[in-house]
Amino acid sequence: MITRSPILLQRHDETEPLPVPPAWQAQLAGAIRDPAELCRRLGLDARWHPGAEAGHALFEVRVPEAFLVRMRPGDPTDPLLRQVLPLGEEAVPAPGFVADPLQEAAHTPARGLIHKYDGRVLLIASPACAVNCRYCFRRHFPYGDNAPSRAQWEATLDTLRDDPTIREAILSGGDPLAASDRQLAWLVNRLEAIPHLTRLRLHTRLPVVIPDRVDDALLDWLGKTRLQKVLVLHVNHANEIDDAVVAACARLKAAGVTLLNQSVLLRGVNDSRDALAALSERLFEAGVLPYYLHVLDPVAGAAHFDVSDDQARELVAGLRDMLPGFLVPRLVREIPGEGSKTPL
Ligand code: SF4
Repeated sequence: MITRSPILLQRHDETEPLPVPPAWQAQLAGAIRDPAELCRRLGLDARWHPGAEAGHALFEVRVPEAFLVRMRPGDPTDPLLRQVLPLGEEAVPAPGFVADPLQEAAHTPARGLIHKYDGRVLLIASPACAVNCRYCFRRHFPYGDNAPSRAQWEATLDTLRDDPTIREAILSGGDPLAASDRQLAWLVNRLEAIPHLTRLRLHTRLPVVIPDRVDDALLDWLGKTRLQKVLVLHVNHANEIDDAVVAACARLKAAGVTLLNQSVLLRGVNDSRDALAALSERLFEAGVLPYYLHVLDPVAGAAHFDVSDDQARELVAGLRDMLPGFLVPRLVREIPGEGSKTPL
């Protein structure tokens, strides 16, 4: 993988260097945000356009080029495309599918802070994502109400400082790595000054959808922190892991980061034994342990991805026949109010 550090360009008089944003930020800014453009680039015919527009009106489309190039042109069943292509079905109400399926609004004691489980807290480090996944349980999340100012971050940090039972800070979003390295380095610097915090966890899809995100600036602050580092990737299909993703994972591991993966079981994406087995094998080749396989959170707009509990159990039982135990992810559901994920 070619990684790029911030580059310094010269002005015409070549006296003052001008900083240029890192390559990943340009890729993020250039992501496809127009459903018609997505259909055109993937060679989908006119039948797909009205549904794509209807879904986009509910939750905007966002697909970076680096992810798009891993899709098969002309194939509406492509497992990567299925995750990001808006469909008319998203507008159809389904019983039990709601805006806040995990009832996170009830666990938000301070701006940008979600405290659901003992011993760890989740910080909304960025409201943005590099890709908008159609099944996302936070597709209706009020990010505008949870974007803290610097002063509000200080209040959140005070909350953590005052609770010695908290051992782990989880950076989430959106995608925490959509924040700049300057912002993240500041936040992590403040977190590591809290003596009872021992672990830093990041839940991110960015090293997968834009592998150039794992650049020198990121590895600098991540490699230096005293906190133990766990990075939980979110990969749903083996085709997501190309050579650039493998190289990004290798750089993270070299910086002392433990890599885990969590997937969501999605109809039409990975709901077969072979697809899940290939995913586990490919993850392990990239140095990532397949940790969780979540059943879908019942978020409004995503019912067409649902796989029944019986089928989910059958699939994982099939995986146990094919793979060593450490490559079989734990099949879980998140239930609002429960103290941890619930095994199925
Ligand atoms: S939070 Fe994760 S699952 Fe949701 S849209 Fe962003 S990257 Fe996708």
